[in-house]
Formats: sequence, C-alpha cells, structure tokens
Amino acid sequence: MHDAYRRTLDATGTTSAQDALASMASELFGGDTPAAKEDSSDSFRLSHATQGLDAVGLVEQSLREGDPYRVAFIDIRMPPGIDGKETAKRIRALDPEINLVIVTGYSDYSPIEISRAAGPIDKIFYITKPFEVNEVSQTARALCQRWQVDSDLAHARNALAEKVSKLEEKTLALAANEARAVHMASHDSLTGAPNRLAFLRELSERTQADRSGFAVGMLDLDRFKNVNDTLGHAAGDELIREVCKRLSAELGDGMVARLGGDEFGLLFDATDARAAMEQCERIVAVCSTTYIILGHSVQVSASMGLILATPSSEDDKIDHMRLADLALYEAKRAGRSQVRLFDASMDESVRFRQSIEAGLRQAIARRELEVVYQPIVARERLDIVGFEALLRWTSDEHGSISPSVFIPIAEESNLIHELGDWVTAEALAECQRWPHQYVSINFSPRQFRRQDFVESLAATVAKSGLPPQRVQIEITETAIFDDDLRAAETLQRLRGLGFRIALDDFGTGYSSLFNIRNFALDCLKIDKSFIDGLGREVESAAIVNSVTHLARSLGLGVVAEGVETETQNQALRLAGCSHLQGYYYGRPGNAALTASLAAQGTADDRPSVAAGVYRLP
Ligand code: C2E
Ligand code: MG
Ligand code: MG
Repeated sequence: MHDAYRRTLDATGTTSAQDALASMASELFGGDTPAAKEDSSDSFRLSHATQGLDAVGLVEQSLREGDPYRVAFIDIRMPPGIDGKETAKRIRALDPEINLVIVTGYSDYSPIEISRAAGPIDKIFYITKPFEVNEVSQTARALCQRWQVDSDLAHARNALAEKVSKLEEKTLALAANEARAVHMASHDSLTGAPNRLAFLRELSERTQADRSGFAVGMLDLDRFKNVNDTLGHAAGDELIREVCKRLSAELGDGMVARLGGDEFGLLFDATDARAAMEQCERIVAVCSTTYIILGHSVQVSASMGLILATPSSEDDKIDHMRLADLALYEAKRAGRSQVRLFDASMDESVRFRQSIEAGLRQAIARRELEVVYQPIVARERLDIVGFEALLRWTSDEHGSISPSVFIPIAEESNLIHELGDWVTAEALAECQRWPHQYVSINFSPRQFRRQDFVESLAATVAKSGLPPQRVQIEITETAIFDDDLRAAETLQRLRGLGFRIALDDFGTGYSSLFNIRNFALDCLKIDKSFIDGLGREVESAAIVNSVTHLARSLGLGVVAEGVETETQNQALRLAGCSHLQGYYYGRPGNAALTASLAAQGTADDRPSVAAGVYRLP
C-alpha cells in the first residue's frame, strides 16, 4: 500500500508515474497513512507511517521544524493502536491547516462523525476504496496547491490584519491628537478654563440664539503686575489658577474664560441688571482676598465691568465685549476693587479721550502749546521766590483744554514724556530771564518713574546752564508711594544734585504725615481743596494747621496753593505757611508778563498785605 502511494506520488522516483498508478490500482486494500508535502509543481515529499500514533508524531515534528505537511491520507483501518478517526482528530488538534483525506473502505464512521472529530469540513475529504490512482494523485496535488493558496491567503490576511490594526492605532492616535488640539485651541493651558476663542464663540452663539438675556463681565485683577514683579512669574501663575478656581466655583452655571494675563471673561444668564450687578459684586468680593501663594500671603482685589444683553436691546451685540471692557476701565479709574455696569456715557468718554490723544500728538508740531507761570510768594516780605510752570493747550478742534483733562490722557498714552520734555526745555529757557527766582516744574508719576529720569533731567539742566538750585521738581504722592523705596532713592539723588523738591497736592493722596519723613523733600504744597474750605469747614483749618506744624518740625516749607481771597490769605499766614500761591497773588501769566513780574520781584502791592497787618512773629 505504502509502496503504491510512493510510486503514485513520487514523480522523482525510478518508477514512472504511469506504472505507479497501475501498481497502485492492483494493490488497493489495507490501511496506512502517507502524508505529502509538495516541493515543486510536479514532485511530492512523502512520509509514511504505519500506525496513527507514528503519523501524529510525524506531524508534531514537522510543525516543530516549521515545515508542516500539506495533506495526510488516513486509512480508517489501521494496525493495532489508534484508528483513523482518532488519528485524524489528533492531527487536527496539532495542525488546523492540514488537509485530511480519509481513505475508507466501508462505513465505520459517517462523514459527520469524522468532521466533528477532525473538522472543519472544508479540510476533510473522502476517498472510498477501491479508488482510482488518478484520484489519489489529483487529490494530493489539488490539496497541496490548496494548502499553499490557503497559506498564502492566511499570510496575506495576517499582513492585512496587521496593517488594519496599525491603521486603527494611527486613527486612534490621530483622533486623540485632534481631540487634544481642539481642546487646546479652545482652552487656556494655565488654568484649563475656556480661552478667548471659546468665549467669543459662546458669546456669538448666545447672541445669535436670541434667547433670554445674558450678562457679559470682564474681570481684571488690580495691580497684578506687582505680584509678578515681586514674587516672580511662578507665583503669578499660581495666583491666576487660584483666582480662576474661585471664579468658576462662585459663578456656577455660565462660563468663566481666561482671556489672557490677569483678565477673565464671564458669561451668564441674566435678565435683571440689578441682580447681575449683585452677583458680580459677590464674585469680586470672593476673589478679593488674601491668598497664600508659594508661601507668601498676597492681598488681591479685582475690578469688573458688566453689560447686560437683552434680546430686545438695541446694542450692537458683537460689541458686548468691548463695552464690558469700557465698563471695566471705568471701574479701574474709579479706584478699582469695584463693579461697573456699562452705560452709554462711558463710550463717549472713550471717544473723547481718543480724540484728545490724537490732537495732543500733533500739538507740539502745530505750536498749540504754551507754558504760563504763576508766582510763588514768600510769606515774610511777599518776595516772589519762584514761578510754577503750567502747561496750556489751545487747539482748533477743542479750543482751550485744561491740563487736568489732557495731562492724565497724555500720561496713559505715554505722550507725557514728549510733552514733559518740551515743558522742561521751555521752562528752563524762561527761567534764565529772571533775576533769581526758581522755576517749579510739574512731573507726572510716569515721568518720575522713567528709568533714566535723574540722569536725563540733570543733563538737560546742565545743558541749559541753570544751576539745579533754581529748579524745583513738583511730584505728587502717587508718584512716590506706589514704589516708595525706589522713589526715596530717586529723590535722594535729585536732592544730592541740588534740585529743590516739592510734594504737590498734599493731602489728597493717601500718604500719612508720618511717612513723608522718609523722603528728601523741600516743601509740601497743601492742596487747593483744603484752602477752599478755610473759614467754612473746621476740618480744613485743622488739616492746614497740623500740616504746617509737622512740616515745620521736619524743616520743610509749606506752600498754600489756590489762595484766592483775603480771608484765606489771612488764615494761611496765621497758620504759618511759608509760601503762598494763588489768584490772590497772581494768575498764571505768559512769558513776557512773567519776566517783568520777576524783575519787579515782589507781590507786596496788595493793599492788605502792604499794610503789614498780618505779619507774624
Ligand atoms: P497743580 O500742579 O496743582 O497746579 C495748580 C493748579 O491750580 C493750576 O491749574 C493753577 O492754574 C491752579 N490755580 C492756582 N491758583 C489758583 C487759584 O487761586 N484758584 C484756582 N481756582 N486755581 C488756581 P492748571 O494750570 O489748570 O493745572 C492743573 C494741573 O495740571 C496741575 O495742578 C498739574 O497737576 C497739572 N499740570 C499743569 N501743567 C503741567 C505740566 O507741565 N506737567 C505736568 N505733569 N502736569 C501739569
Ligand atoms: Mg503743581
Ligand atoms: Mg497742586
């Protein structure tokens, strides 16, 4: 039997295929198990086993060697041991790919039983004895080829599956990246809160949906820069995160977005302006507290601008954010730590400021500016000891505008440096024409804090040829108390160079009488508002008296500003002010008038003064 198989299938053998087929035909009986591997298109490699167990061993070995059989011919009947069905079952258990051909002479087992034991069905074939030689040879060839095709297919399928799974992985990674990118595009990385883009999107959705009213709030921390400057950016970041947490917790429903820096945007349902204001005031109160940041305690306050958008409102809805910003700006201007509800006047005031700023930019070139000078008189003999330089601006568009209006605008827009330099140059030139008086020049906080303020002023004055003793620098409390250590040093240096220093508008800021002793000053100028109150309010007189006493004890002069009436004049001289300035002694005058007044040198042509009635001991 085995020989017959060998001869039938081994085309490379000595017997011709035809002979083999013939001999096989004559010998078809008995049972045994040949297995075949096809080497090339026309030759098989054959193994033979006379018992099923040996066949199972051969299959096992072939798998181990990585060279599996393509097909096994299994006779159901075998010499003692396991029968063909059991052999098939065990082989199948080892190798799911092998094709099994059951060679059976009679029906011991039904095909169903066999395929149950050694399925799948499409890998089990039957040849009934007696069989044709061609049948065996063709079956072997066909099944070897099929095995190869199946195997190639399986490889291709595996490769494809691998590719698909890689593709799936990539798709997943891409989806994750995309989700992250989408999140990043709409969220702030520091706080995880929605960012400006998300805020604008939500705002425009709410606007378009035209649903019930909502509120837009802009919140900004007051003096946040100080935290960054003194404790570093890590502390600043930490503070922003903390504030954001509190805001979100307090707002509840609605959106808290970080718009950048220390600026937050809030969006929430609201129909009633008063209720919305109250809610915002609560929010501002909740985040205005002491935070412990990286071991430092940091006092924080916040300001907020608010606008209510009702579906019926006529406002340009896209403008909500800008208008809420204007309200925030007003909240800051009004002294911070508060909430302001937008009203139309805010927009007008901004337009006005913008037009002033634009006009100021051209004022010098257009020769619209002038410096006028107001005499400062010594109490004793009413000698004119100096003149305060005051800026005047008359433009075609706005007419004559008070410096109290345009100086703060120049200060906000940085134009103050250019204007200030111009005033200084004019004032120094004018002062040269006076016999001995000093010129008192106002410097805004921003000028005073400029990095090279001392050097540049010293250089300008030196160039003018005027001794620094004839220049008085007027600064306000705000200029020195916001950064008192640096200010103290700057003043010390100016004093060291010989400049006179006056603290202007004294009493209106928040400096205490006590801490002004830390600064190198020559005199205090008591603000006009206290002088106005003299004779009317007890407090004003008390303030003027105590300031004068303190100044005296510190060796400082006291200039009373805005002296308009004889009564005020009397009271101030009695209180002991060392110097007087005001309409009573002379209005600010142009350069020509001032030069002649300076030459005259005294203001004692005033009747009551000339009478010497109020001369003090
Ligand atoms: P200031 O430095 O306190 O100047 C005194 C202001 O009081 C001046 O107003 C002056 O004209 C006014 N004044 C003086 N005596 C009287 C009086 O008897 N009655 C009344 N009603 N007013 C009197 P002005 O010139 O309008 O200046 C206002 C403020 O603008 C100044 O207050 C000063 O802070 C600022 N300023 C003016 N010129 C300059 C400048 O060149 N540079 C800077 N940085 N600020 C300036
Ligand atoms: Mg002044
Ligand atoms: Mg003043």
